[in-house]
Amino acid sequence: MKWSIPEKVIERGRQYVKEGRVLSVTPDAVNNVWHGEVLGSELYLVDLDATAKEEDYCQCMYWEEHHYCKHTVAVELYLRQKGKGRRIKSDDLVKAL
Ligand SMILES: [Zn+2]
Repeated sequence: MKWSIPEKVIERGRQYVKEGRVLSVTPDAVNNVWHGEVLGSELYLVDLDATAKEEDYCQCMYWEEHHYCKHTVAVELYLRQKGKGRRIKSDDLVKAL
């Protein structure tokens, strides 16, 4: 998680995880990215960078402006909750989360 993301955005992401709004997170080892589906006011597709660069992507308007949002945060927190890091490991590819 980047230090520059405000606590209030992180808190919204945490709430999203708690509400079960992260519908799925799928590792993509070819592109080195996690594909997430997050249900906000609509369904947003999130790409969580699996490299140290943490260049995430979300389809929402907020992301356009800030390059982070509660959806990308929610996917990262969801992974942590499952005991995973950003880095895709070989056993992540075996079973879906
Ligand atoms: Zn977003």
